[in-house]
Amino acid sequence: MKATGAATASAAVGTGATGVAAQGDTDIDALIEEMSLREKAGQMTQVAISSFDPEPDESNVPDNFDVDTVGELFSELAVGSVLSGGAAPPSFDGTEVVRGANALQEYNVENAPNGIPFLYGVDATHGNDLLEGATALPQRMNMGSARDPDLVEEAERHTSRSVAAMGAHWTFAPTTDLQRDPRWGRFYEGISEDPLLEGDISRVRARALEDDPRMAACVKHFAAYSVPNNGNDRAPASTSLRDLRTDLLPPYREALESEPKTVMVNSGAVNGKPAHASHWLLTDVLRERYGFDGVVLSDYDDLNRLITNHDYVSDFRTATKRAINAGVDMYMIGNGGSAPGPGQYIDTLVSLVEAGEIPIERVDEAVRNILELKADLGLFGSPTVDESRIGSTLGGAQEASEQLAKESLVLLKNDGDALPLSTSDSVLLTGPGVDGNGNDTRALMQHGGWTLGWQGPAAGGPFPRQNLLVDELRSRVGSLTHVPTSFDNGTWWAGQGTGGNQQSDENGNFDLTDGQESEVRSAAPNADAVVVVLGEGPHNEGFGDRDELVLDESQQRLVDAVTEAAPEETPVVGVMYAGSPRGSVETFSGLDALLFAGEPGSDAGVAVAETLVGEYNPSGKLAFTWPGNAGTPVGTTPVPLNRYSPTSTGSTDNGPLYEFGHGLSYTSFEYGDVSLSQSSVADPSETSELTLSVEVSNTGDRAGEHVVDVFNTQSYGSVLQPVRRLVGYERVRLAAGETTTVDVAVDLRALEVVPGDVLAVMPKVVESGEYELTVGVDGPKTTLTVEDAASVTDPNPVPGRYDIDNDGDATFADVAALFRAIRGDD
Ligand code: BGC
Repeated sequence: MKATGAATASAAVGTGATGVAAQGDTDIDALIEEMSLREKAGQMTQVAISSFDPEPDESNVPDNFDVDTVGELFSELAVGSVLSGGAAPPSFDGTEVVRGANALQEYNVENAPNGIPFLYGVDATHGNDLLEGATALPQRMNMGSARDPDLVEEAERHTSRSVAAMGAHWTFAPTTDLQRDPRWGRFYEGISEDPLLEGDISRVRARALEDDPRMAACVKHFAAYSVPNNGNDRAPASTSLRDLRTDLLPPYREALESEPKTVMVNSGAVNGKPAHASHWLLTDVLRERYGFDGVVLSDYDDLNRLITNHDYVSDFRTATKRAINAGVDMYMIGNGGSAPGPGQYIDTLVSLVEAGEIPIERVDEAVRNILELKADLGLFGSPTVDESRIGSTLGGAQEASEQLAKESLVLLKNDGDALPLSTSDSVLLTGPGVDGNGNDTRALMQHGGWTLGWQGPAAGGPFPRQNLLVDELRSRVGSLTHVPTSFDNGTWWAGQGTGGNQQSDENGNFDLTDGQESEVRSAAPNADAVVVVLGEGPHNEGFGDRDELVLDESQQRLVDAVTEAAPEETPVVGVMYAGSPRGSVETFSGLDALLFAGEPGSDAGVAVAETLVGEYNPSGKLAFTWPGNAGTPVGTTPVPLNRYSPTSTGSTDNGPLYEFGHGLSYTSFEYGDVSLSQSSVADPSETSELTLSVEVSNTGDRAGEHVVDVFNTQSYGSVLQPVRRLVGYERVRLAAGETTTVDVAVDLRALEVVPGDVLAVMPKVVESGEYELTVGVDGPKTTLTVEDAASVTDPNPVPGRYDIDNDGDATFADVAALFRAIRGDD
């Protein structure tokens, strides 16, 4: 929990420290009392820095802030926080970072008006993805297919310690945006398209990332960022109040159960209101309904984006006024272009308060949230960190990272048992691996965006700790021939600032040169098996948006060349590194087996190689639905599992190619009897969790892990019910021939819907009726009966409505009830 208003802010480092905070033993109330309005506005400011040097020369100072040096950000503007956005700290060397952060903090504490320590925020979004040699965990989408919250929690606890050891205090994670639309460039940042799974993993991540007492997590992007109406980043959300309340908000709320210290706002707009200007989202729902009492941070330059992106207001003053009054506590200011810098923001905020357009109470509340966070993290007592810790954290959590990577791999197809490969095989490995300049690009696709760089690592590195498929496979098979094909991810930035956006749908440039093709064609006939790596380049935000899911034509040519040149009996195996479902039925039909690896991070090489040769038996399950016609531009997307019927009414079958929960193994699992701890629930608000027990047998001849998903697949109520939704899951391990009974916790909250007509303001309830529960994609079924409708999570009316008597309508009776409540009647 956060510190109280009387939290102690004790002595600062260094000599010559002056001011209230620096003198020690000062409480937050006294500090706020002491601060000038301008200083308070400074605390509500976070600035992107590319340098740690308080007095750098002009070449490494961001020149668009109306300050000359980084040091002046503190001494003159007294900013509350700095960030290294885009997973790009001033140095990728951990020791340099911690020294730089400490030096800057010492300068700040000595020179800032009240000596208040700054907060340093970074994007450790999948492990410590910021430093050379650090462990980059599998991306978020992989965490969903692994369905192993305990393992994620263990791995992310290490992230927390490692980021704290580099002198940062704050990671802008977990991303809690529900996956839905694979055209969106941030699809891979979602855990799942299912709210229960997205919420579950986000909750453990929010807790784990604060494991180190000096670390704050940041649940983002509140709310509904992930459903841009046209698949383009930061476009307004395509949602309804019913969808928002049923599917999009619950994961954030679940993550907030861990009491994370901060929340970041959605850059987009929801139902015609930019989230940064939405009092309903940021105050009524987030604070009053969900009880959040931490710091609300804007996203990057997003006050300015109310002008430039949303065309919502014409001037920065109005933008600032609306955002702060809606509930934003701190403005994250980027370092580019013509966007107002910290000086202009602080001046604007001060003038708005002086003009009475932002109440001083709102400013004091924001400043209190920020100072309490600093006190909570112990920054007043010890603003700097031990510089020797970082070395021992680099590359840590290897076991958890490797296991998570393995558990996340999804075997989509395996015709004729093409996999596993034999360890005596001669293997031809081909696919993207070298750029036009001869640089090795093999490592890029396994990491994805937010890895030592905003759009992922650069071709020549530096890299996180990592192992590569080519090396790991070579040491596990008889012999290996490697023919890398061309891949260059360096173009995304090229058109920036010139009006051009060099984004390509493949997120990089892939090619198969004539020379490469003839090498592949001559090696294939001599191989016992061919492994073709396919996929897309690392990408991020709008640069990852795409309007087709088909792979680029050179990858199709590569699959064609391999299948033509390899003898009929030679298995052709695809491994796909991608942050979204990519490829067409045509591509897949040329492959005997296909392993969807997502972006497994540092330990991709070991995880994939061990899986290909059967040292590890694949167990991941898709946490999203794979669209059926991904070969066509756009495709029929989105098709999440919790869509409403029908999926298509025309003659074409637009249903999924692979269902949510699909994933093969080298052994076979069979389900036996299913039972429920109680088959009927009288009142879901009193009994919101049941146990489904199912007998699971490993009927094959090798040990394996298996994820038991439980879905609600059929139900009828007063409104449409989704095609399917996850109500519980459990991962088990079974020896060959073993049978066991698996208990799966069934969460009735997943069955809540918003009843009533189109207006969708009534409290969410689990409606009475019969709920068909199905084990696995298409396994045995049982029925749960709910006798009376009741609300588990939402007994009160929608915030902002005067539905006092909770009957779904704001009527005269409500006004009378409100009047009686105000008068103090019982
Ligand atoms: C992203 C955030 C990120 C921030 C800082 C923004 O562009 O939307 O997710 O935390 O940059 O890098």
